[in-house]
Formats: sequence, structure tokens, C-alpha cells
Amino acid sequence: MKLNITCIPGDGIGPEIVNEAKKVLDKIALVYGHEMIYKDILMGGASIDVHGVPLTDEAIADAKAADAVLMGSIGGDTTTSPWYQLPPNLRPEAGLLKIRKALNLFANLRPAILYSELADACPLRKDISDAGFDMLIMRELTGGLYFGERKTIEENGVLKAIDTLTYDENEIRRIAIKGFDIAMKRKKKVTSVDKANVLDSSRLWRKVVEEVAKDYPEVTLEHMLVDNCAMQLVKDPAQFDVILTENMFGDILSDEASMVTGSIGMLASASLNDTKFGLYEPSHGSAPDIAGKDIANPIATILSAAMMLRYTFDLDKEADAIENAVKSILKKGYRTGDIMSEGCTKVGCKQMGDLLCEEIQ
Ligand code: NAD
Repeated sequence: MKLNITCIPGDGIGPEIVNEAKKVLDKIALVYGHEMIYKDILMGGASIDVHGVPLTDEAIADAKAADAVLMGSIGGDTTTSPWYQLPPNLRPEAGLLKIRKALNLFANLRPAILYSELADACPLRKDISDAGFDMLIMRELTGGLYFGERKTIEENGVLKAIDTLTYDENEIRRIAIKGFDIAMKRKKKVTSVDKANVLDSSRLWRKVVEEVAKDYPEVTLEHMLVDNCAMQLVKDPAQFDVILTENMFGDILSDEASMVTGSIGMLASASLNDTKFGLYEPSHGSAPDIAGKDIANPIATILSAAMMLRYTFDLDKEADAIENAVKSILKKGYRTGDIMSEGCTKVGCKQMGDLLCEEIQ
């Protein structure tokens, strides 16, 4: 099979981790008889430096022409990088929002799994981490507060900032359907998270989710207020299967879920539209503090590549091979610095990529 993949190495550790993911994909291609065709495009700070904008129309066209996009991460140090002196629409993150919108990527999937080998890195009490967890946060990605109208005005000499949170029922319905579809392939439980005791947008969210649930009688639906969900994620994460939520709540909760797994360097993500097309990227940022040192953990990006094989290309065997390679390497005690623990062997970014390639036979 020919796999046309547009790659966005991006900024910071992005180029290093994407490189390792390509190495692993190339090994998959070799073992399973596929052909990987890559095209790199610029986005974020790397694009600002060359084109003066975080994402060009040509880069969007290249992304659209591919079967899938594999991304590292974008952005720099937000306090020191000159990119953050630019107006907000020209900063690195504007490229990310633009590509999500252009590719109509409305569904963001972030699995949060506690690997037993990394249970020591889990910051939760041992009795909680011993129960393990395997949840998936399904976050709406193209609506809500991050895409609403915003402005800062001056009223009677006082500065006032306004952000608007809008959802229509169609936006809610399509993400709810994705959430229930994924739940059907998992433990058949959806926790819909909102703030329906305060927000109108949440009351509509709850109403539409309940309508969609009627088409999935096998799936158990529960509603949870976002503040309670934030607490439950640390109190009893094993209770969750699919957490379905809107853009801003999902942004915050998925980072919290990342941290309870113990390492942000292990967490993959996928952003999907209505077709098989998806953008796959690690959950973490560009980690400018460790860029260029060959110490970044490439596993989140490599697991994102596995999600790409599964969701865009329906190559389940190949995706399993990557996920099993990760488990096996952890079992053998190899760790990058971020997940290092006593008695394990510390390796760099490149060596972790090489070890994973060796596991795939
Ligand atoms: P970050 O995720 O980049 O880093 C947070 C901490 O985790 C840092 O100490 C970093 O060294 C560490 N870390 C992250 N990924 C790691 C990995 N693979 N291996 C080892 N350690 C890792 O978050 P931040 O510092 O808040 O943001 C840095 C930049 O990334 C900012 O410009 C931010 O806007 C951007 N960002 C981009 C994306 C994206 O591209 N989707 C997402 C989040 C943040």
C-alpha cells in the first residue's frame, strides 16, 4: 500500500521526534511491504522565519493532498521567543488553529493510558495507580471559546476583554457521534463533560448528546460537570472510558489526564474529520527547553504514527506492531530521561527510535 503522508516537523524538538517516527514507519513499510511517501511542510515558527506567516496556503494545499498529516509540535519559548512579539494571528499557534479549521478537523482523540511499567511515574497514590486506566478524551476542536469572536475594548478608561463561546447543535452532534462510535469499539461508556449548571452552550451540549445516545443503546452515558471531572481524574481515573467534551474543557482535562499517566512524552493524539483523513501529533508541545539535545522522548509521536496507521489507513496489524514494540521496550527497561527510573537504562531520542525499529520484525 502507498501511504502519502505530509509531515510537519515544526519547532523545538519537533524535527527530532518526527525523524524517529519516520524511521519507525519506514521499518513498518519494510516489514509489511508498504511504501511511505513523505512530503515535509513548514508550520509555526519555522514557517514564520521563512515566509513571515505561521502557515502558507501552499502548505495547506500540500496537507490536503495527502492521506494524513504527521506533526511534531510547533511554538517556542513564549516569554523569550520573538515569535511571541508578533500579533496573535501571526504567532506559531495561529498556524495550528488555521490548519485544524482548513482540514475541518473537529474531533481530537487523546488516549491516556497508564502503562504498568511506568506506574511509578504516576503521581497518584499507589492504590489508585495500581488499578490502572485506559481512557480516551474526545475533544471538540473547531468550535467554542477558541474560535468565537474576541476583542479588547476600552470603556470609560477601563480595558475590557471579551471572548465568546458558541456552539450550534450540528457541531455538537457530529462530535457526539464520533465519541459514541469510538466507545462502541472500547468499553462502551461515554462520560459527557459540560458546565450545564451555568452555561447555555453546555445545556445545548447535554440535550444533543442525549439525543445521539438514543442511537447507541449499548453505550452507557453519564453526564459530569467539568469541575467534578477534574477531580475524578485524579481520584478515580479507572472509571473513565470515553470522555466527550467541548474545546476548552477538553484542552484542560486532556492535559490533566496526560499528567496522571506520569509522562507527557508518551501521549499520542489524533485529529479527525468526517473522512479517513487525520492529523496525528503528540499531545505535548515543542519543549524548547530540551530541543536539539537528543533527549526528547519520541514515543508520543511514534504512537501517534500508530494511530495514523489504524484510523486513516486501517492498518491495524501494523499499528499493533508499533504499540507492542513500545510495551516491549518499556519492559526491557529502556527509558528516555522524562520517564527514567532507578534500575532502567537511559537512552536518547535517536536510540529510542532505533530500539523500537529493532523490535519490529
Ligand atoms: P511542552 O509540552 O512543550 O513542555 C512541557 C514540559 O514537558 C517541558 O519541561 C518539556 O521539556 C517536557 N516535554 C514535553 N515533551 C517532551 C518529550 N517528548 N520528551 C521529554 N520531555 C518533554 O509545553 P510548554 O513548555 O508549555 O510549551 C512549549 C511550546 O510548545 C509553546 O510555544 C507552546 O505554545 C507549544 N505547544 C505546542 C503544541 C502543539 O504543537 N500542538 C501543544 C502544546 C504546546
